[in-house]
Amino acid sequence: MDGSRELEKLAAGEALTKEEYLRLIKDRESVRDEAADLAVRTRQRYYGNKVFIRGLIEFTNICKNNCYYCGIRAGNTAAERYRLMPEEILSCAGKGYELGFRTFVLQGGEDPYYTDEILLSVVRSLKETYPDCALTLSVGERSRESYRLLKEAGADRYLLRHETVNAKHYAALHPADMHYGNRMACLKTLKELGYQTGAGFMVGSPGQTDEDLADEMLFLRELKPEMVGIGPFIPHKDTPFAKEQAGSAELTVFLLSLIRLTLPDVLLPATTALGTADPMGREKGILSGANVLMPNLSPAGVREKYLLYDNKICTGDEAAACIACLKARIAKTGCEIVTDRGDHARHI
Ligand code: SAH
Repeated sequence: MDGSRELEKLAAGEALTKEEYLRLIKDRESVRDEAADLAVRTRQRYYGNKVFIRGLIEFTNICKNNCYYCGIRAGNTAAERYRLMPEEILSCAGKGYELGFRTFVLQGGEDPYYTDEILLSVVRSLKETYPDCALTLSVGERSRESYRLLKEAGADRYLLRHETVNAKHYAALHPADMHYGNRMACLKTLKELGYQTGAGFMVGSPGQTDEDLADEMLFLRELKPEMVGIGPFIPHKDTPFAKEQAGSAELTVFLLSLIRLTLPDVLLPATTALGTADPMGREKGILSGANVLMPNLSPAGVREKYLLYDNKICTGDEAAACIACLKARIAKTGCEIVTDRGDHARHI
């Protein structure tokens, strides 16, 4: 029994049980190529050979949280902290616009400086200056009211990885003041408010089991997020998880295929963490069903400070050089980078 039957069921749009997902995950060696082929064909049905690019602006590495895995956790006194001011964020987006970007992703730690008032004014300015662009926020857990105001101010999308679907596992990755229930409630709120919402998890984070991964697939099928961000866990030397084993790029790529087959029209990035774990990771992700890349637009001077994990790629490159490099890499996969907003099929 090698998982082929499960794969065919999944590709035909049938719902798999947890046991079936588990069999696929355990037997991935034998079905990996077939899964990638089916996933690419599925992606082509909805998006052709298009790969969407999102300009990532890492605007602050100041964070009040203490996630055990994350290099910018509050407790990491070795991290050199920075915060871009609103006008710096605007100028960063301006450079991205000139390079062709039509989606900006503002990502950062949970930095108390960025109150609703300040963040709202950034969102408004960005949407006024670039009305043809989509704006994605990825700034962690906030109140329902805050999410509502940000949506009203023009934010279109929100990325908030749930990190793990297993509440006990969540508690092993985070300190006691962070709650699984709150994270999940935030995701539901974002969906209710009409954001194109991105959930996601780390692959191979300490304590994660194959059963957890099967549960991730069931959870995503139920939540139906517009976007799913996954990447391998990579240890950071100044965190409690410094000595833990890294997650595997190969498993991440296989899960990208399963996610594509489970949510055929999802927007699915081949992440920087995947490109860090394997030099060809992003290409492999695209060849396994991913259709989004998120190159960095942060100013060169701060890039090497937004280190969630060790050995992060592209921290020295200028945005323009990054784009040229990605275009060449992606052309080799038979796909093509496009610059439109690339909304989720449900939102066009
Ligand atoms: N503060 C925001 C943004 C977090 S950074 C928020 O809470 O959503 C974006 C993602 O990077 C996280 O959701 C996490 O999944 C990932 N990440 C953090 N540390 C990592 C590590 N050591 N290895 C791999 N991915 C990591």
